[in-house]
Amino acid sequence: MGIKEIDADVLVVGSGLAGVMAAVKAARMGCTVVLASKGSMRSGNSVLVGGGWLVPSKDFPPDEYVHVTLEGGKRINDVKLLRVLGQRGEAMMRVLGEMGVPLEKRSNRMWWVKMDTGKRSAGIVLMDPLLEHTKDERIVVLPWLSIIELLMDDGRASGAVGISRDMGPVVIDAKSVVLATGGGGGIYKRHDNHRRTRGDGYWLALQVGLPLRDMEFVQFYPLGLAEPHLPPLMVPPPIPKEGKAIDSEGQDIVEKHGLRFDLNEFIMEYRDQFTLILTTETERGKVYLDYTGVPEEKWETPRLNRFGRINPASRNRPFAVAPVVHFFMGGVEINEFAQTAIPGLFAAGEVTAGVHGANRIGGNALMECAVFGDIAGESAALYAMGVRRGKSKRGAVPGKFLWKEERKEVKELFLEVQDLTWTHAGPIRNGQSLQEGLSRVPEMEERLLELEADGKSLELNEVKGSVLISKAIMRASLEREESRGAFYREDFPQSDDDHWLKNIFLSLNGKTGDFIVTHRPAEGTELTDIIQP
Ligand SMILES: Cc1cc2nc3c(=O)[nH]c(=O)nc-3n(C[C@H](O)[C@H](O)[C@H](O)COP(=O)(O)OP(=O)(O)OC[C@H]3O[C@@H](n4cnc5c(N)ncnc54)[C@H](O)[C@@H]3O)c2cc1C
Repeated sequence: MGIKEIDADVLVVGSGLAGVMAAVKAARMGCTVVLASKGSMRSGNSVLVGGGWLVPSKDFPPDEYVHVTLEGGKRINDVKLLRVLGQRGEAMMRVLGEMGVPLEKRSNRMWWVKMDTGKRSAGIVLMDPLLEHTKDERIVVLPWLSIIELLMDDGRASGAVGISRDMGPVVIDAKSVVLATGGGGGIYKRHDNHRRTRGDGYWLALQVGLPLRDMEFVQFYPLGLAEPHLPPLMVPPPIPKEGKAIDSEGQDIVEKHGLRFDLNEFIMEYRDQFTLILTTETERGKVYLDYTGVPEEKWETPRLNRFGRINPASRNRPFAVAPVVHFFMGGVEINEFAQTAIPGLFAAGEVTAGVHGANRIGGNALMECAVFGDIAGESAALYAMGVRRGKSKRGAVPGKFLWKEERKEVKELFLEVQDLTWTHAGPIRNGQSLQEGLSRVPEMEERLLELEADGKSLELNEVKGSVLISKAIMRASLEREESRGAFYREDFPQSDDDHWLKNIFLSLNGKTGDFIVTHRPAEGTELTDIIQP
């Protein structure tokens, strides 16, 4: 199969909420856009959402929004980005409404995707109207195109190389690029993410010299299903007020631990603390959610009705729950214009760091994706309008690269990576275990090399990326000798503001494959001083 070459003003990698908002904005500004997704257009975590939005407004003033998010993130968030969300959040809800997303305000702070009584999930109700706007003559939509390398020309982003299921190798020449590849929850054994959410954007960024920030901060959702016959899906909020979390003796966990809040406050605002409690409880025995007291009529409300169809037993008996990986707070650093430190490379959504600091508050990811997706589209369009196309990159195309992987060794290695990451970088970490985890990486890297010598494939490439990102999480976790937000080290159980009110950056040493680790105080971020030469 020959190499397909495509030109565009703007390349957007990822068709989740951030990517779609970016593509639509760039096209509306008059640019030609390629919107690529390694899966179908309905892929990534955006189609799985519970549908809650934390929205600053006159009832929840921007300053309060910034304060609440900063306190939730234990003050290592990027305040500049929070101010942008504070200023633009409410207007974004109007924009989304005009684009056809049904939204309803249910409290001073929270809006929800309004679910219909049909079978569509909140994520589909959110994304389908937005995807309609990508049916624009300026946007070329390319599902099943996996980007494997970002291209650079004279120090600036100039496109990407990908492998397409239908076209084989593809080179996209673009004047600017938006990275909107989502997070990396799928590299953990227990997660509620899309199966292929494996942190591609993180390794794509590392390869072109960008550092990753805050990679030790992984959010766990306390109430993931732990029933043997069901996947570890999140039990969606809001939890009905009749619902109770109980231990294996039937004792109410909120009462047992003398907790001040109800389950919904815990899962929306204090996921970090509740995860620790549930992790400790599940080490002793099982934890259950008991919905048997929920009255019949409540089971007819759309969210509960949908959950009842997925887990029918939940109506009649308590069902087992345990924490699952839910969200990555760390990633690529951006400024208020969604610019990375590489000219022409922009990023938005879960692939970025800064908004959530050490712990994300419920409903704040969707807000981040929509606002910064839109900003990234605008910035990428403005950038593209002002530059000439770079040189063609035919030479960058890899040799044979299989779309589908059949080797059982590759699948086994991925399961090992998931197990390694969960065991050594799970909800409770310690220095010795992190060292042990890191010591297993070189052997995995050797096996990767042997497998690559036998043939390259997309899946193998993702496994290689997963090993690197697992290593990044463990390395950053080892560096941070304290506990903060969602990050807990049992050997350093207290927060230490005197030494650790700062962000950790990891860049890749291209020669050795090791990370170069740097720190920066959590205030006043300047991008240019941290990019590696
Ligand atoms: C179960 C669940 C429920 C959630 N509920 C809420 C909620 O109610 N409120 C809230 O605020 N947040 C919620 N979140 C978090 C939120 O859903 C995500 O943070 C957000 O959807 C991420 O959007 P995104 O656009 O950054 O990435 P995603 O939606 O994950 O999209 C990533 C895209 O990138 C593509 N991609 C990845 N790698 C490549 C590659 N190499 N080449 C080409 N394409 C690639 C994928 O195919 C996909 O199209 C939830 C998360 C989960 C898992």
